[in-house]
Formats: sequence, C-alpha cells, structure tokens
Amino acid sequence: MTVRVRIAPSPTGNLHIGTARTAVFNWLFAQNRGGQFILRIEDTDLERSQPEYTQNIMDGLQWLGLTWDEGPIYQSDRAELYQPKIQALLDQGLAYRAYETPAELDAMREAQKARGEAPRYNNQHRSLTPEQIEQFEAEGRPAVIRFKIENGREIVWDDLVRGPVHWKGRDLGGDMVIARAAPSDQIGPPLYNFVVVVDDIDMAISHVIRGEDHIGNTPKQILLYEALGASVPIFGHTPLILNPQGAKLSKRDGVTSISDFRAMGFTAEALANYMTLLGWSAPDAQELFTLAEAAQLFSFDRVNKAGAKFDWDKLDWINSQYLHALSPEALLPMIAPYLKEAGYAFDLNADQSWLLKLAALVGPSLTRLKDCVELSHFFFTPAVDFSEAAQKQLQQAGVSEALQAALDALKASDFATVEDAKSLINQVTKSLGVKKGLVMRSLRAALMGDMQGPDLVESWVILHERGFDTGRLESAIALGQ
Ligand code: GLU
Repeated sequence: MTVRVRIAPSPTGNLHIGTARTAVFNWLFAQNRGGQFILRIEDTDLERSQPEYTQNIMDGLQWLGLTWDEGPIYQSDRAELYQPKIQALLDQGLAYRAYETPAELDAMREAQKARGEAPRYNNQHRSLTPEQIEQFEAEGRPAVIRFKIENGREIVWDDLVRGPVHWKGRDLGGDMVIARAAPSDQIGPPLYNFVVVVDDIDMAISHVIRGEDHIGNTPKQILLYEALGASVPIFGHTPLILNPQGAKLSKRDGVTSISDFRAMGFTAEALANYMTLLGWSAPDAQELFTLAEAAQLFSFDRVNKAGAKFDWDKLDWINSQYLHALSPEALLPMIAPYLKEAGYAFDLNADQSWLLKLAALVGPSLTRLKDCVELSHFFFTPAVDFSEAAQKQLQQAGVSEALQAALDALKASDFATVEDAKSLINQVTKSLGVKKGLVMRSLRAALMGDMQGPDLVESWVILHERGFDTGRLESAIALGQ
C-alpha cells in the first residue's frame, strides 16, 4: 500500500505544539514507509482563518524540518468539489433537509435535559411528508442538510494506537449536519466532518493520523466514507499532550506555539527531537536523534495510548545537548539575534573573531539560546557591577596588591592570548609570594564582578580585546582600598 498521510491544520492560530507533534508522527511514518506527507490548510472557517496563521504554520513546519511532498492545498479553493457530493447523498436518500429553527433545536435540547437525557437531534425531520416540506418552504425557512445515522449501527475500527475502537450509532448525537443552513433550494457551506472525508478520499489518504481529540469524529467519518462509496483509511489517534499536572496542555500553560518555543531559544533540531518523544519511544530507549534517524525506528507499536506529559527539564536537556555540540561558527549566527535584541553593540563582520571567542566561551553553558544574553552581559559593558561576594573578595587583605601587580604587568606586556594570561598570573603569584588561588579569585572578582562564571583566562582575553580589563582592575583596586 502506498502510504499517504496528511497534516490538516486550521489557520485559526499559530502552529500549536500539539499540531506540530501530530505532524512529526505523520512525517516519521511517511518517511519510514517511503510514503508521502501532504499539507492541507483547512481554512473554510472564513471568520477565524487568517493568512498570517497559515504563514506561521508553514514557517514552523519548515523550520522544524517537516517538509511536505504535496501542498499546501487550501480547502477554500475546493468549494465546488463538495456540493455535488452532498447533492448525491440527498439524491440517494442518505441525507435530507431539516428545517428546525435554532429556537426549536434549543427547545428540543432543553426538553431532553429536563428528562435527564443527553442532548441529541431526534431525527424528527427525517421523514417529513411532502405537505410538511411544502409548508416549511412556503414559510421561507432555511434548511440544514443532515446525514442519516442509524441508532443501531455499530462502528468499529482498528486504531493504530488504541487497537479496536467500538462506537454505537446512537451515541453520535443523531443525524448529523453536513451543510449549514441555506435557502431550501440551495446547499449551504459544508461542515468539517464532511469536507475532511471528501478531501481525504480525493487525496487518496491511506492513514489518518491525528490527535485523540478527534476520536469522536472518526465514527461519523467512517459512515460518510461508506455513504460516498469509498474505502475507509486506517486511523491512528495520537495521545494528547498534557501539562505537568496532567491536564490537557493549553494556552494557560504559557507557551504553546512553535514560534514561541523558537523565540525562547530552543533549536529546531532539539524541539523536533523532543516532540518525537512526546508519546513515542525508541526501541533501545535512545533519546537523541535527528528526525531522519527517528524515522528509521518509528512505528505505531511504540506510541502510547496515555497522554504525554510535557517535561520542560527534558526539553532543556535535549536542547543543551544540541547547543553544546555546535561549533562556535555554527553557534554565532544563532546567538547573534538575541545579543542584538538585548541591545548589545557589535558588528557581526568586523567583530567576528572576537564574537567567535565569545561563542566558544558561552556555548557550553547554554541551555536555551536566550541564555547567551545573561552569560555575555559583562563582555558588552565597560564597567561591571561587583556582586556582594565579589566585593567581599576585593576587600580581603593582599587583594589590592595582587591586582595592582597584575595591572602593572598587563600594561607592560603584549597581552593577547590565553597563554599570556596564564603566564601573567604565574608571574604575579611568584613575585608577590602569594597563593595562586588568591590571584585567580581576585582577578575573577575584579574582571567579572562575581565569583562564579565562565573560564577566567578565556574571559580575560575576550575582555582585553574590548579594552574593558584595565578599567575594571582599576575600579576593583579602588574598592579594596
Ligand atoms: N483541521 C483539523 C484540526 O485542526 C484537523 C482535522 C483532521 O486531522 O482530520 O484539528
């Protein structure tokens, strides 16, 4: 069987992590089976669909590396496809016009609730007499089109994730609306369940892989496949993504769109890697892989039924693994936008060799790209604020002398490299007869303003190139006196 799968986002918001994870599973499956992955934009809700969301969705999929083989196909371009199919269902007596007003439908639901029944359409217009129809039409009532669902029908499918799933026709809410209200000689705009089925048939989709939130649509869609005389695809419902408390991940949990994750400084590779693990695990418990590597290993046997808890620590860990493996040359263009946004002054071309040293220094400490802002703050400002710990260090006995000796030696030398910094430290240690640790700690406090931070000698070289080291040594000496 040729595998053809699709992702069918509605452009009513930015690319959501749940949609993106469904896209990942579709993509992995298509790659694994040598099939095709299709992008269909379900933009029939004209009020809520926005072109900028379509753009955001496509940018996000592309950024993650989820390239599609066909599309984007826009549902809004295909309106003429749906009407004849609805007409055919009407002609075959599989669908009919229903004329209830919204107020009548409300009253029906209220009465059912009052009797303690679940609200459903009671199929009352299924068998109107020609006289009743004539009467409604004479009143000028608009009509929706409903597709017949027999209460006694059993619908069963073998879900790729959940195994056999059983539904009863009576649990589907009565005959379902497939086209919105329109004058009774017309067919109104078709609704989601109908349009999806027509499209999936037309695009020869072999496997419908989508979020578990769609599971209640599947039995209705299976009935529509049958009514349209098409073979039913294989369905797979992927587990929901849950917040750490176990509830469905929602906007209230903060970031949910791929563009937000990107802005926070997650790399595409790390985020795609993490999403493969949201509901799936590799046979050998491997956790770090490219999408292409995961595709080799992917199968639905290892997709969980239970919801997948979103684990920020795991995502951070994966992201740091990717960032730590990058060369300074690869990292620099990734951190530069964050440094620019923070207002740091530099020129990517003119300062390139200096910036590469900075990238090499901060790279191993990054968890998210954004961390570069804080980690490199003191390389972009001439003076430094001394932390409490640094002030304490600078006020200890012998520290000012050590720093003065370092400053003198610095001024007298051609200081440029890590080796120069090391030999200067040795020289001061020897000439003053003090412990090397004292010199190192004092320099750290003076140059970096804190007792913790990145490598001292590398930082010094970077600061020196900017001309920030002598001024800081002078301020630190003044503070200690
Ligand atoms: N447009 C639907 C959504 O955004 C997808 C429907 C489907 O995959 O069948 O959830």
